[in-house]
Amino acid sequence: MDTIVENYLKRYSVSKSTHHFLNQDQRMLVGGQWVSVAERDGHDVHEFSTGGVITQIPRGTAQDVDLAVKAARYQLEEGEWSQYTPLERERLIHRLADVVEAHLEELAEIESIDTGKSVVFAREVDVQGAIDTFRYFAGWASKIHGRTVTPSSLSGEYLAYTTREPIGVVGSIIPWNFPLQTLVWKLAATLATGCTSVIKPAELTSLSALRLAELLAVAGIPEGVVNIVTGEGATVGQALASHPGVDKVTFTGSTSVGKLVGAATLDNMTRATLELGGKSPVLVMEDANLKQAAEAVANGVFFNSGQICDAGSRAYIHKSVYREFLDELAAYANTLNVAPGLDPECYIGPQVGRAQYERVVSYIRKGLEEGAELVCGGVPKAGNGIFVEPTVFANCTNDMIIMQEEIFGPVLATASFDTDEEAITLANDSIYGLSSAIYCNDLSRVHKLIPKIRAGTVSVNAQGLLDPAIPFGGYKQSGIGKDLGAEQLDYFLETKSVLIALS
Ligand code: NAD
Repeated sequence: MDTIVENYLKRYSVSKSTHHFLNQDQRMLVGGQWVSVAERDGHDVHEFSTGGVITQIPRGTAQDVDLAVKAARYQLEEGEWSQYTPLERERLIHRLADVVEAHLEELAEIESIDTGKSVVFAREVDVQGAIDTFRYFAGWASKIHGRTVTPSSLSGEYLAYTTREPIGVVGSIIPWNFPLQTLVWKLAATLATGCTSVIKPAELTSLSALRLAELLAVAGIPEGVVNIVTGEGATVGQALASHPGVDKVTFTGSTSVGKLVGAATLDNMTRATLELGGKSPVLVMEDANLKQAAEAVANGVFFNSGQICDAGSRAYIHKSVYREFLDELAAYANTLNVAPGLDPECYIGPQVGRAQYERVVSYIRKGLEEGAELVCGGVPKAGNGIFVEPTVFANCTNDMIIMQEEIFGPVLATASFDTDEEAITLANDSIYGLSSAIYCNDLSRVHKLIPKIRAGTVSVNAQGLLDPAIPFGGYKQSGIGKDLGAEQLDYFLETKSVLIALS
């Protein structure tokens, strides 16, 4: 660990256990074996607010993926895991939730140090969200069943029924913005349905996954049921997506990589769910409580330093309240603290790496070049590290790049509208359809708008709320399939039809 990172950890009195974990040799978990950096090539992990190096993680290979898939298949078909009853799986998932809960503080610190996000949010959203997700899916393990079916046209006597079977070995590919939480969205459903798992964390932010790998053993998950292979997307991710021994791939990440992953699964007809990017619209009607709406809209795009897939990054505001709303928005945005993630006052941390920072700044420059009016924030001053202030643009038009492309940073593009029809046309004018929000107090107007919006989620007078019971996933190029909720289970199960002639 660099001295600069050591000093950063000291300044915020990071716990001994976190310190210990960060200073040890990082190891991935392949078929129950620990594989360290010493046995593989390693790559540096950076702390983004200081730029220092925290540690190194192993650069996994296609052979590691192959070993992991074989171990996962063994447990699926022959090993101890294949004998677990649903209630035993349920108990095990609860045990895992207990172990994660016992390490909540440590995991929150690791997540904050690795991603740069606020440690307070890491605790309350990332790690608590992971625990809640395990607990929600634990209960499903014993409630998965088929149905008896009355044939509709067959004459004669038949018994027909369906069974639900685990889909098999699940390959999970994880993005860098919510590393632990997204991993657990995939893992909880995998374990509840009796599947087994090979997980590839994002190369920029793998540390919470590696700590979780250690906690799996503490919870008593049999070796080989869950494998964690770190490394690059083009090698480990590609090997996982195209492996003939993988029955299903669940991917969360950008739309461009999602298309590559989808294509890689096709050869083997591997099932795939793809949770992809977004450019989610927000509609603010003239009767909304403008102060409350402005705060919620700001939180909906600036939370997690703007690195949120369902960020409400395009806001359309009724023209009669446009200026008033922008004033409220700028006033609130200016109260949001930009600071290193371990600072308890941090709201916006550094961007995840210099490349991501340059990308966000280039979009701010494009907005200015395209003639959008800067309301607050803007291009960061030189020498301020890789932090981006909350940035709001006004008078945007839908043909502007900042209105169409996913920026994945704390940047909100806004425009005004006149009629509800115009608002819906603007909102749907996107290749994406992940999420959306409406601020309005007229219930009948809201109910007329909801079916017209082409997005996987419509939030009303709220934004950015996630719950393990509520399915999450996009329309259009925001993806295929759902995570969370009972709906997620369908993507981890095969349905077998049984038809028995009785005479
Ligand atoms: P990314 O697409 O760059 O990477 C995601 C994962 O894919 C990483 O683990 C990466 O290593 C891996 N990968 C890269 N190339 C690969 C390849 N050729 N084959 C297989 N795997 C490969 O995404 P990111 O930058 O980590 O995350 C940001 C993106 O994720 C944003 O677009 C965001 O909207 C999206 N996202 C979507 C959701 C959702 O639920 N819809 C949630 C979070 C993030």
